[in-house]
Amino acid sequence: MKKLLLLFTLLFIFSCNQSTVDKKPIGEPDQKPTSDKVESDNFGIVIHGGASTILKENMTDSLEAEYKKVLTEAIETGHSILANGGTALEAVQKTINIMENSPLFNAGKGAVFTNAETNDMDAAIMDGESLNAGAISGVTTIKNPINLAYEVMEFSPHVMLSGKGAEEFAKERQIEIVDPSYFYTENRFQSLKKVQELEKKEADSINNATAFYDPFIKNSKFGTVGCVALDKNGNLAAGTSTGGMTNKKYNRIGDAPIIGAGTYANNKTCAVSATGWGEFFIRGVVAYDISALMEYKEMSLEEAAREVIQKKLPELGGDGGIIAIDHDGNIAMEFNTTGMYRATMNKKGELTLGIYKENENNTSQE
Ligand code: ASP
Repeated sequence: MKKLLLLFTLLFIFSCNQSTVDKKPIGEPDQKPTSDKVESDNFGIVIHGGASTILKENMTDSLEAEYKKVLTEAIETGHSILANGGTALEAVQKTINIMENSPLFNAGKGAVFTNAETNDMDAAIMDGESLNAGAISGVTTIKNPINLAYEVMEFSPHVMLSGKGAEEFAKERQIEIVDPSYFYTENRFQSLKKVQELEKKEADSINNATAFYDPFIKNSKFGTVGCVALDKNGNLAAGTSTGGMTNKKYNRIGDAPIIGAGTYANNKTCAVSATGWGEFFIRGVVAYDISALMEYKEMSLEEAAREVIQKKLPELGGDGGIIAIDHDGNIAMEFNTTGMYRATMNKKGELTLGIYKENENNTSQE
């Protein structure tokens, strides 16, 4: 009887302890699972700046050089964080910031215009160690949307915030707010006007005022940014930031902020960031599908990425690409469009840069 009483008392004390651990006060960073991993010297980082119809013949040498310059600056930023023992999450965030601050990419400063002539941005970040994630959609005043996604992950009990609520949270967290005019770029505005003209022609020709998301619009998307990284502690992280698709309507949300569709990280498998026609990436749950093929079918990262991007996505009718890195530092940069802005840097600091498809090897084994 005494033994039974002791057992009940111990069980009671244990369950009390559990419930205090579970109740994380709002505003407190999440508890990281304690890790007994030993720091290894392996790490790596991969970035993309969007996939679409990118052809050498449509590119000037000086524009190509500008893209390469920003891609290099971005990846060097993340690489040096990782080399100094920083986390994959920090590397992903700071790397994406560089691309968000450039007008070249469809994220932050260079975000595309909606049908209502606003710039509505989406972003997400995910930690492969804890499977914690943060995402935001439809924000119009956040200078660096990936930073707000990070705050949602670390300092709110939620995964995804949208619109006005997300901006209210940004103020509370003292995230940098800018006037919406900061996101005006003449290039992007002219793209909107071109797409709207084509859309009107299309609508007139089929006598249907609601024609939208037709092939013209399909060709008008590009420039989303993403980053995946493996740090020296063996932790993976993924992040994606975008203005979405030119001329989007009705508060449309793409795949980038949807965990599992455009962004996913899991230390068991890999970290993935996607770019392309978001509706198909959502329906195909692309980023998680790559991870699932590795986990359940024991495919390599290269096989899983190829299966999803070259087979399953086109079967649905979608186009675009992904970048990914696995827990061993193998990388994949798979796309079914004519180009994807991309770069990698391994632990030795070896840089690869790519834009077009031809003659480029897009995977590497550690
Ligand atoms: N995937 C993004 C979206 O659909 C667009 C892109 O990657 O270019 O919102």
